[in-house]
Amino acid sequence: MPHADAADDTTAFRLDCGATWLNLLATQGRHPTPTPIERIPTPDRLAAWLALHELTPAAPVTEDDVALAQHLRRPIRAVAWATITGTPAPEEAVGELARFLREHDDPVALLATDEGLRRAAPDGTAAALSRIVRQAVDQLAGSERLTLKACPEQDCLGLFSDPTGRRRWCPSPACASRGRVRALRARRAGIQSDDMTTSAPE
Ligand SMILES: [Zn+2]
Repeated sequence: MPHADAADDTTAFRLDCGATWLNLLATQGRHPTPTPIERIPTPDRLAAWLALHELTPAAPVTEDDVALAQHLRRPIRAVAWATITGTPAPEEAVGELARFLREHDDPVALLATDEGLRRAAPDGTAAALSRIVRQAVDQLAGSERLTLKACPEQDCLGLFSDPTGRRRWCPSPACASRGRVRALRARRAGIQSDDMTTSAPE
């Protein structure tokens, strides 16, 4: 694995998307490009990501768990993308998520701790993932779906939650600065007046 600073930066987890399930989608960086970045390539990395989201499972994370986590991003993203673009929910992806939730029922075991309300640790990574898929479908089928947006940067297209409705780019500073530079260039080239309909207002 490359160990330059820049590479370290691109493989860093993104925890700023607004929900655990959105952060899971962001474990695949630059996914629309031919060279996506995999941020959970190993059991250790997936375990670290789960720990950051307070979802450390009771059983150790395995290679199969890594494959499952990577795989689940696809149907979640497909449904989320349809939600954001106002297109019909893709039946195959919906069916896959429904099947996964059916097969990995994760009962809610609440703990009243000194630090506040907690849930018992998930038995395994599949149970942890089922909590994340549950959060995704709750938000995608409920009113929170109205806060979802996709970053307009073509090599990002990252999905994020924007409850304020004021964000144009995802919370990554890189996307906002690239987008602003592009918008500035476009304005300087004098193409803003006729082409404004193709880009959202800031
Ligand atoms: Zn972005």
